[in-house]
Amino acid sequence: MNQPAEHQRSSPLSGPASATLRQTETWVFDLDNTLYPASTNLFGQIDLRMRDFIARSLNLGLEDARTLQKTYFHTYGTTLRGLMEHHAVDAHAFLDYVHDIDIDALSPSPALDTALTRLSGRKLIFTNASTDHARRVMKRLGVEHHFDSIFDIADADFEPKPAPAVYARLVERHRIDPKTSVMVEDIARNLEPAAALGMTTVWVRTDSEWGSQGNDGAHVHHVVDDLAAWLGALSDGVADAAPC
Ligand SMILES: [Mg+2]
Repeated sequence: MNQPAEHQRSSPLSGPASATLRQTETWVFDLDNTLYPASTNLFGQIDLRMRDFIARSLNLGLEDARTLQKTYFHTYGTTLRGLMEHHAVDAHAFLDYVHDIDIDALSPSPALDTALTRLSGRKLIFTNASTDHARRVMKRLGVEHHFDSIFDIADADFEPKPAPAVYARLVERHRIDPKTSVMVEDIARNLEPAAALGMTTVWVRTDSEWGSQGNDGAHVHHVVDDLAAWLGALSDGVADAAPC
């Protein structure tokens, strides 16, 4: 049985848990709906472009394309993976097409920029999307300069989170010590392999049923609603703890 996570729900910004967080050497951040709120609905644009890509490339009507898109997503973890398995779709052509969205729907986030400036430790992006998309999003948010590296879906050989092998590859490639690392992510299930490796996990709470599945499991160590505010408060704790 998973232990009740209720005691972990509140932001643990004091005590041993926060001390551990402050000693984090590597922060691993998901990108979409983690660095910015899901309410921007950037994914809504990507979602439609995935459907349109399928309709065009497989010569299907929009409704059939939508059905296939969702079938592949739920079967393989990403729509792309299903398209690669069954239709030999060119992954880079797909990624370029679906991420060609109106980025102005996203607002710059000075709050996140400030929070990341004050947060000690190396910062990486770990995304099921492409590096080009990640750079575009980070640039728009105004936080690109905080991140050392991006581990994208091509780095994962197009095997999406939460496949455990991908986490092992991430850790090896970037020489991450899981015991001193934190993973931040809006899809709760994607935190499970991270916790299994020994990472501390932070779930960015979402209303999405897909993202919420398994959020009450023992692999979810911390839950936050406003990432920038939570990171900022964590840094405040560091300042408070520092000798005068
Ligand atoms: Mg996400």
